Amino acid sequence: MSELPPLILVTNDDGVHAPGLFALAKAMKTLRGGDVEVVVIAPDRERSAVGHALTMHRPLFCEELREGVYAINGTPTDCVAIGVKKILRRRPVLLASGINRGGNLGDDITYSGTVSAAVEGTLIGIPSIAVSIDGSSHLHYADTGRVAAIVAAHVLERGLPPDTLLNVNAPNIPWDEFKGIRFTGQGKRTYDDAIQEVADPRGRAHYWLGGGTPIFQGGEETDIHAVAQGFVSVTPLHLDLTNYDALRMIETDWAEMTQLKP
Ligand code: MN
Repeated sequence: MSELPPLILVTNDDGVHAPGLFALAKAMKTLRGGDVEVVVIAPDRERSAVGHALTMHRPLFCEELREGVYAINGTPTDCVAIGVKKILRRRPVLLASGINRGGNLGDDITYSGTVSAAVEGTLIGIPSIAVSIDGSSHLHYADTGRVAAIVAAHVLERGLPPDTLLNVNAPNIPWDEFKGIRFTGQGKRTYDDAIQEVADPRGRAHYWLGGGTPIFQGGEETDIHAVAQGFVSVTPLHLDLTNYDALRMIETDWAEMTQLKP
C-alpha cells in the first residue's frame, strides 16, 4: 500500500467562492514538488471580521461542492474545528488561511476571521499560517500565493515554536516588485471616523462600521511599516496574550490587592 501524501487544509473568511482561497490552494499544491493533498474547507459565504467566533446555537452543515472542496454554513473557526475533527480522514500537517482580500495588520488581527482560523489551527496543534493582501481591488493573488508557498515550505521543514502562528501580509504589487520578506512585530492601526452615523428615510439614526481612515503608529519593526515599504511582512503571533512585563509590574506594585479577603 502506498503512503498517502501529507495533507494541507486551506480555509478563509472571504467564503468558499473567493478568488484568494483558490490562489492559496493552488500555491499549496506546489509544495513538496506536488506531493501533497490539499483540501479546502471554508465558510459558505463571506464571514470577514467575525473574529474567533464559534457557532453554538444552530446546526452546521458541511457540503462537498466538488472533490476536495467543502463549504460549511459557519465561521472560519467552525470550519477548522469541524474540518479537522469530522471531515478530514487524517490530520493535516499545515493549515493555511486566506488569501484574505485586505491586510490583517496591527490591531486588525483580533477582528480577523482569517487570522482566527489560524489561531484555531494552532490551538489544536496544527502549524498554521494566515495570509492576506493589503489592497482592496485588482489584487495580485498569484504573487502572494508564491510567497505563501515559500513561507509554508519553511513551516513544513522547520516547524513552528509552541502556540505560535504566522501572520503573513503582502503588499498588493506584482512578484517582481516585492522588496523581500521582513520579520516584524504587530503594529498599531486605529481608525478615525470608523463609525458613520446616518439618518434613514424616516430620520432615524443608524450606524455603519468598517469605514474610516486608518492611522498608523509604531516603528520600522512593525508589520504595517514593512508592507507600506513594499516588503512582505511575516509576524509570529503567540496564543498566550499575557503581558508578562505588566504581570511583573502588578505583582510588585499592586501586591496589596492580593491580600483582599471576602
Ligand atoms: Mn476577509
